[in-house]
Amino acid sequence: MVGRFAPSPSGRMHLGNLWSCLLAWLSARSEGGRMVLRLEDLDPGRCRPEHAAQVMRDLEWLGLDWDNEPVYQSQRGERYAQAFRELEGQGLVYPCFCTRKELHAASAPHASDGAAVYDGRCGRLSPEERGPLSQNRRPAWRVRVPEEEISCSDRLQGEYSEHLARDCGDFILRRSDGVYAYQLAVVVDDAAMGVTQVVRGRDLLSSVPRQLWLQEKLALPRPEYGHLPLLLAPDGRRLAKRDRDLELGRLQERYTARSLVGVLAHAANLIDRPEGITPRELIPLFSWDKLPREDFVLDIEA
Ligand code: GLU
Repeated sequence: MVGRFAPSPSGRMHLGNLWSCLLAWLSARSEGGRMVLRLEDLDPGRCRPEHAAQVMRDLEWLGLDWDNEPVYQSQRGERYAQAFRELEGQGLVYPCFCTRKELHAASAPHASDGAAVYDGRCGRLSPEERGPLSQNRRPAWRVRVPEEEISCSDRLQGEYSEHLARDCGDFILRRSDGVYAYQLAVVVDDAAMGVTQVVRGRDLLSSVPRQLWLQEKLALPRPEYGHLPLLLAPDGRRLAKRDRDLELGRLQERYTARSLVGVLAHAANLIDRPEGITPRELIPLFSWDKLPREDFVLDIEA
């Protein structure tokens, strides 16, 4: 059993990240499993090494530990290139020359995660049509998805399925600036790191069918998935990085690690009152059956 933390070091951790990290850790440790850490710093425009160092200090402050050396996605380009070539070799990859404006016209706005469904037009270009386009523009690279329904059985959310062509469309594997996409990196890395259980926020549930399909195409093992309900701001919005009051730096002014873990453990129904407690003390109290399934507003003084 191997669980993982996969934070994106694009700023300070906020309460939502801590919630996912605590429960991912408890799930692994309560089964005597190992925990690995991967810094998802693929996007050089958004991620900084100092944020990565801060994320690690924050996890440690909370009382969460991990095994092995942390893995940085920014150092793993060669592995992603290999997987990309493998998919290319299967005839599944094509260049997409669409500009932002063209994408708008080429997409239907009803994908599962609020993103758009690309209509695949660049995948139908002939080599003669492609030639002149590639002289003026650096393409992004998309993978051609099948007319196939892909289902998973999630530990908390139950059955989830998506018809890839209809609900998702051909998705990006590599951006025009050369950065590999999250969907590709995550399946390559989870497999390379031996991850057997993925616990993260419900906002990523809609990525699972794409990830399962990529795993199948790349002959990678399939981990088990558990998608946690999201913490909402008092007005019912999803917590976001802009909710500065719920960023760890600010929370630390008002909470000790014990008291913050207590608030989260209470929200997870692991303890009856939001009393101070450590992650280690929570290990014997953890059970998937106790966890809430619906998004909820966390009762916390902001
Ligand atoms: N890096 C992503 C995030 O911080 C998580 C990706 C994952 O868990 O697969 O939201």
